[in-house]
Amino acid sequence: MFITMIASECAPVAKVGGLADVVFGLSRELEIRGNDVEIILPKYDCMRYDHIYGLQETYSDLWVPYYDQSVHCSVYFGFVHGRKCFFIDDHSDKNFFNRGVFYGHHDDHERFAFFCRAALEFMLKSNKHPDIIHCHDWQTALVPVLLYDIYKHLGMTHPRVCLTLHNLKHQGIVGESILREIGLHNTGHYFDYDRMRDNFNHSAVNLMKGGIVYSNFVSTVSPNYANEIKYSDENFGLGHTLHIHSGKFGGILNGIDYDVWNTETDSCIPYHYGIDNLDTKYGNKEVLRHRLLLRQDYKPIVAYIGRLDHQKGVHLIRHAIFFALNNGCQFILLGSSQDPEINNYFWHLKQELNENPDCHLEIGYNEELAHLIYAGSDMIVMPSLFEPCGLTQMIAMKYGTIPIVRNTGGLHDTVFDAEYSHRPYNERNGFVFDHFCDEGLESALNRAIGMWYSYPQYFRELMKNAMNYDYSWNGPGMHYMNVYKHIEEK
Ligand code: ADP
Repeated sequence: MFITMIASECAPVAKVGGLADVVFGLSRELEIRGNDVEIILPKYDCMRYDHIYGLQETYSDLWVPYYDQSVHCSVYFGFVHGRKCFFIDDHSDKNFFNRGVFYGHHDDHERFAFFCRAALEFMLKSNKHPDIIHCHDWQTALVPVLLYDIYKHLGMTHPRVCLTLHNLKHQGIVGESILREIGLHNTGHYFDYDRMRDNFNHSAVNLMKGGIVYSNFVSTVSPNYANEIKYSDENFGLGHTLHIHSGKFGGILNGIDYDVWNTETDSCIPYHYGIDNLDTKYGNKEVLRHRLLLRQDYKPIVAYIGRLDHQKGVHLIRHAIFFALNNGCQFILLGSSQDPEINNYFWHLKQELNENPDCHLEIGYNEELAHLIYAGSDMIVMPSLFEPCGLTQMIAMKYGTIPIVRNTGGLHDTVFDAEYSHRPYNERNGFVFDHFCDEGLESALNRAIGMWYSYPQYFRELMKNAMNYDYSWNGPGMHYMNVYKHIEEK
């Protein structure tokens, strides 16, 4: 099959969160399965250009309709660790993609709406007719709408569209004028509750909703999150829409890229290890402590790696730090936030704990340090309010680091409690709690710390079980292939 991914992120060149890992990892898996895969991305100024090989202009004169005019763009091509990527560079006064950051501007909706139009215009002009177009989140959810309203009539009748919802919290809710901006023909038709009008904000358009209505298949990133957003209030207002379209909606668990996340070959960790030489992991623990100026002591290291966002349970992360420190552990946090208030909150906390030899808070994004923390820690906490899939717990498990998670979304599908799970003992791999409160977190963290100190042999079994899990792209790749075949035949 010929598959085109259209996305706002792709690891490692343009990564904010898990979406980037998914776009890269799934594309790679699809190629391994014999498909021809291309990825279309914006050409951001803040990309990691050192990870793009052979970058060159491949299409210099792309004119993208926008309002009543056309915007001049050029398209670049390059390989990102073997993946074929096209990058759209706009030459408008608005400088859509040269903003120094990926997201966070007042005109983000406009920027990505334009990107959708530009991606399709590029495919049309360069005569690309993929079997499948795979879009991701609200940023590229306009693609199926534009395909239906405009590009189908210009000859792009072949492609089928799959849209993956990575996080329903962000839906692209924006004023109605966006429909005119991108050139839809009968805007009144689309500004309707059955189509793109937001279910609650009556004067706004919901881009993600449009994507759900006009795609041939809609997936989300874990089966449990699919159920949660269909049957509970966790859908940020899209439950009704998902119900109506439930016949073409399902959850497929994300995978992680075991070429990148591999304890035997990871170039960011000094000591390589596997299930058979687990003790070597502790060499990384020493190096990690040394690097972050933590004292060497007989204590477990509890870590948090991830975005600092309300979704991730900010106050429970704080509670985990103090609970761990008061109960014989060291704590390492690596994270950053787009919200200045949350960033400040953690900067203050960092100052407060600065002299503590058992604690290090690293505020910022650091891919390489993340690898060392996964390898050198004993446990990782994820007290999320909601978690569509979560990659952190899956990476941690591959590194023999035990996840302590709240029972929600994809965490429910991947982490099975050491004591209370109904699974056989050799399938249990972590600690789970239900209630989103301090006591809930304590109930799981306390059990994990207790097992580490009092029953080290059980803790070690848990580590082996966790490392044994196959959370690669192999299974999800097969599921996506089935989805593509299914919508192709329709
Ligand atoms: P989300 O997509 O909600 O941000 P996921 O758990 O799905 O969360 O994916 C997070 C990914 O981003 C993981 O690969 C994690 O290691 C990485 N990550 C998050 N924050 C940081 C950071 N500050 N430094 C390095 N890597 C990070």
